Amino acid sequence: MTLTEELLIARGELENNLRNLLGIPVFLIEMDGFALPCGCSGATINIRGLQVDDLEIFEEQILKYLNNAAENLEIEPSFIFARLIPGTSEVASLNIRMLCNRCYMDFARGSGKQPRPDIYILRFDRRT
Ligand SMILES: [Zn+2]
Repeated sequence: MTLTEELLIARGELENNLRNLLGIPVFLIEMDGFALPCGCSGATINIRGLQVDDLEIFEEQILKYLNNAAENLEIEPSFIFARLIPGTSEVASLNIRMLCNRCYMDFARGSGKQPRPDIYILRFDRRT
């Protein structure tokens, strides 16, 4: 399968899983694979209809779905987080990211689930 075919399947599965779990019509408007100049790579899922409250309540299950989607895309993420629309409780995107060393150091300095008001961390693997 090509990367884009895998993204199409992952997008559909994740959307179905989230709709079934939450019982609301969340909409995954776009799922993208990305590579950054710094060396980070991964996938971003732009989403509508998901609230921070949903994340908090169903965090364990949602993280399971995202870990599963990552595995299907052959991504081994060290960092999974939601980007929030500042000043609202709306989730703008879910992000599955393999961190480069520099970004790892940046995020390792922070603590808690919300080191910044626009970020809600679902998973951060600390290096030992
Ligand atoms: Zn980076």
